[in-house]
Amino acid sequence: MAVVTTFVEGWDFVQTLGEGAYGEVKLAVNTDTQEAIAVKIINLERCPSAADSVRKEVCVHKMLNHDNVIKFFGFRKNGNMQYLFLEYASGGELFDRIEPDIGMSQGDANKYFKQLMAGVEYLHSRGVTHRDLKPENVLLDDFDNLRISDFGLATVFRYQGNERLLERCCGTVPYVAPEVISRKPYHAEPADVWSCAIILVALLAGELPWDEPNYGCQEYSDWKDCRITVPPWSKIDNLALSLLRKLLVENASKRFTVRQIKGHQWFNKNFNKTHKGSWGRLPSGSPSDSPCGTGPFKRVCSGLSPPGHSTDSDIMRVSSSQPDPQQLPDNTGDGGQSSVDAIFSFSQPVHPENMFLSSQFQGTPGCSQTPLQKMVRRMTRFFVRADKDDSMAELERVLQQLGYNYKRNSRGMATVSAHDRRKMSLVFKACLLEMGENLLMDFRLSKGDGLEFKRHFIKIKEQMKSVISKMPPAYPLVPSQVSQLDAH
Ligand code: ATP
Repeated sequence: MAVVTTFVEGWDFVQTLGEGAYGEVKLAVNTDTQEAIAVKIINLERCPSAADSVRKEVCVHKMLNHDNVIKFFGFRKNGNMQYLFLEYASGGELFDRIEPDIGMSQGDANKYFKQLMAGVEYLHSRGVTHRDLKPENVLLDDFDNLRISDFGLATVFRYQGNERLLERCCGTVPYVAPEVISRKPYHAEPADVWSCAIILVALLAGELPWDEPNYGCQEYSDWKDCRITVPPWSKIDNLALSLLRKLLVENASKRFTVRQIKGHQWFNKNFNKTHKGSWGRLPSGSPSDSPCGTGPFKRVCSGLSPPGHSTDSDIMRVSSSQPDPQQLPDNTGDGGQSSVDAIFSFSQPVHPENMFLSSQFQGTPGCSQTPLQKMVRRMTRFFVRADKDDSMAELERVLQQLGYNYKRNSRGMATVSAHDRRKMSLVFKACLLEMGENLLMDFRLSKGDGLEFKRHFIKIKEQMKSVISKMPPAYPLVPSQVSQLDAH
């Protein structure tokens, strides 16, 4: 069984958190302190064109420090491998909280939208535009607070008070503003605001309003003609709709600014706090559907207390922990690995003195530490009660029955390829994670739209009912017990 793998001495990779166009993001845990960070790994050999964009991402991200923006801790290069050390967002992606075709409660949507606006306002105040705002790039922390992430397309649009217009057509098409695809120079801030408005539609209705904001797209024309008796608009309450009417305005100069948004009645409405929050609707058998109550694994699985006896102070310690940047692995020169695969196949001692070049890290306050395995919260997973072989066999049976193309790698992971309703390519991965005595089937998006991925997940899960565990998992879970299963 492949268990946790050592990255550089003192830091273990314990889980793949996600992947994007240029590489993977892994959870690294410090073996002594149990501090957790996310490491974005880019292999320039596989993706030479990424070099510029990584340089820019580092450059922009290290300027930023705000509660609603993922913290950047540092950067390390090792031959063709590049590593970005980031604050770990254990709450997963915002899209995961959106129920396809339903969305979420207005109270939750309002909370997330307020935090999104706070983050975007901060970025703009620093002269930075994100240019790819979408629920997949919005992560959540331990406390369910929103953190804007992925600055791969971000750029500086204002420097020393001078704003420059942008020309690059980039972003994710359903989220981009009309002026971005118009091929004319455009202002950065209203374009980000537009993307936030599309996110708000997704939060409130669980679907995106159109494929692309142009005249050829019927849904967009309908919106422009005020035909709002159809979904998604028919699912959205009037006050929220009145805000969207001010945001999804084609003429960017007439679009509401962040300041105007903050003055809108829906933004300031005090929603009834009786809603259960995002964690109130978890599918049964999902990891957070556990005796831990509302929280994720961290609450009971810290190993600080016996199962069922986690204390508030444990929780506080767990939740406030962010790594001390001085303790992070950095430029080693030699002794590192030359490819992602190599990292997973060995654990080579590295001189600790080579690991720490604190000057490359952003300062963050020292903090309490916890002997806790942090595992990203995700709704696209469930515990299974069958054994490994039967669970994977059942997955394959269901994938075949539903007509998916898939392949399994040597470690047993299934990569599934499909097309979404927009005929766009969708790729996701499924694997078994062993957690103590429990087996967790984990699905994660590899390429494509997050909401579409969730629709497919729900379909597959529905068919796999016979192996899904209804019982809460056994605790506690400790770091060494979290592993991806090898091929058997
Ligand atoms: P893209 O193709 O969207 O540009 P990318 O290669 O830039 O992707 P990211 O979007 O930054 O990569 O990360 C890919 C995924 O990894 C995210 O969607 C998320 O699931 C996970 N991830 C990234 N950063 C973190 C983090 N700091 N904490 C937890 N998970 C993370």
